[in-house]
Amino acid sequence: MMASSTSEVRLVIDGKRMDGRGPEDLRQLRIEAGVLHEADGSAFVEWGGNKIICGVYGPRECIPRFLASPYRALVKCRYMMSPFASLEEHSRSGPSRRSTELSKVIREVFENLVIAEKFPNTQIDIYIDVLQADGGTRTASITAAAVALANAGIPMKDMVSAVAVGKADGQLLVDLGKAEDNFGQSDTPVAFASRSKDILLIQMDGMLTRDEMARVLDMAERAEGKIHAVQADSLKRHYEEAGEKKFLM
Ligand code: ADP
Repeated sequence: MMASSTSEVRLVIDGKRMDGRGPEDLRQLRIEAGVLHEADGSAFVEWGGNKIICGVYGPRECIPRFLASPYRALVKCRYMMSPFASLEEHSRSGPSRRSTELSKVIREVFENLVIAEKFPNTQIDIYIDVLQADGGTRTASITAAAVALANAGIPMKDMVSAVAVGKADGQLLVDLGKAEDNFGQSDTPVAFASRSKDILLIQMDGMLTRDEMARVLDMAERAEGKIHAVQADSLKRHYEEAGEKKFLM
């Protein structure tokens, strides 16, 4: 996250954002479930300019074995950005401080959702590859991984949807684009459990007043209702299409 406290770029003009959106409008979001043959579950998310693919494996044997727990499955997550994901200089592909942080915070979301006690001595792997990055990849990754886990049939207490809400040009904005994230005054990614409304991830960059923070959470909750509908629709479509194919065979 690279928000600066003073924005030199005009990001909101007459209530309209650079891409024409109003403050609470989401970028276009499309989710496809079950896109990988060789994974137990998968999802592809296109969200604004983000293109993210997620593959889930497991529950399967825990390796190395000494990490296995006789009480629960281990949830593992590896978030990675491809070298061609954005204009920023990458220097090398592979793990970085940022990808290590994102892998950790995404893993923690799913450790709180997966019913891990059902699968002792196993691990569940969540692999996330960002093919194109356009701001909000951690929230888009969580949204994708939730669909991939559901597609893998892994039991969870709840679904999760995530979005970044922030502040640019003094206005609170939902679903920050890359420029709003990089040059705005604040960036607050939030993940909500869909039914319980538990907050499973919240991070903050920049400054917000207490009142603004409350409004950010309200806006995130409203947005997450819309995101959840797209997630549910992607799963429904996947199984309807699978059913149609079976019928034709
Ligand atoms: P998020 O993607 O969750 O918003 P950040 O706030 O760290 O995470 O990054 C904002 C955006 O800036 C990213 O989506 C990406 O477009 C760009 N970006 C940040 N760091 C990097 C990096 N190391 N390599 C490539 N792009 C990056």
